[in-house]
Amino acid sequence: LAKGSRSGTARYDQQRDHFDPAQLALVAELRRAIEGNELVLYYQPKAELRTGRVCAVEALVRWRHPERGMVPPDAFLPVAEQTGLIDALTKWVLATALAQAVAWGLSFDRLTMAINISARNLARADFADTVLSALAAAHVLPGRLVLEITETALMTDPETAADVLFRLAEAGVRVSVDDFGQGQTSLSYLATLPLHELKIDKNFVGDLPDNAAHAAIVRSVIDLGHNLGLQVVAEGVETREITAMLTAAGCDIIQGYLLARPMPADELPSWLAGHRVS
Ligand code: C2E
Ligand code: CA
Ligand code: CA
Ligand code: CA
Repeated sequence: LAKGSRSGTARYDQQRDHFDPAQLALVAELRRAIEGNELVLYYQPKAELRTGRVCAVEALVRWRHPERGMVPPDAFLPVAEQTGLIDALTKWVLATALAQAVAWGLSFDRLTMAINISARNLARADFADTVLSALAAAHVLPGRLVLEITETALMTDPETAADVLFRLAEAGVRVSVDDFGQGQTSLSYLATLPLHELKIDKNFVGDLPDNAAHAAIVRSVIDLGHNLGLQVVAEGVETREITAMLTAAGCDIIQGYLLARPMPADELPSWLAGHRVS
């Protein structure tokens, strides 16, 4: 992340299993950022294709660094995951997104709040308690919360993940499989989980309708999702052409720059005022 360093992604030495000094500095800095409120959430809406109704917003974390400006999640999440800081980070995201949902008030009678969960979060047997405590503390009904979990995260520790998800689903929390199509999830395992939503990875969506292979994958995933009784979301929808193809293929929900870019919390109310929410 240091200025001038390659991509800003984590520089964890897998073979020697330790961090170089620059990496250790980043870890300390990130810990302070979580405690010192340098993290911010942006919010990106999702809308139903058939009705145009806005049905959810997804919280996406950024690091508002005092010197480096707005740092994207890809530049610091890997190091948070490798060091265990992700536990504190996810707790912060949960508390902040739920407090924000309450602050927005009435619109959340109809909207759900989605947050992203890491593999490491899901590998903790007490993660369900973490989520349920955060909901209780914020006085938000579990049915208002959607956890977006990548296929890879579901497969990291499948047994613990299943235990955690069943406890959460029993309480009413919804679960969405993020980046679907990128991982190697066993479909028979997926079919056993209490899921509500499949999100088709944006890499398959971005070059529709011209990429015939991606069009075939997208159609198959929509059918698969429906056959499993799930809502299907396409992310990364940037054009009307893509939207038309997704509508024809029976996709339920879209998210992407065409509808709205992720925006700071204070911009969402006026954005919502110009869109159909109920
Ligand atoms: P994701 O969950 O798959 O989120 C979608 C990413 O695509 C976001 O990038 C979003 O800003 C971007 N995006 C949205 N619409 C479009 C579009 O139409 N076109 C294109 N090209 N991109 C679009 P972002 O915000 O940089 O987040 C990157 C990833 O970081 C997320 O991917 C998610 O895996 C992770 N992430 C973000 N916030 C959190 C968080 O609070 N906790 C955890 N654990 N992970 C997070
Ligand atoms: Ca997501
Ligand atoms: Ca995704
Ligand atoms: Ca992604």
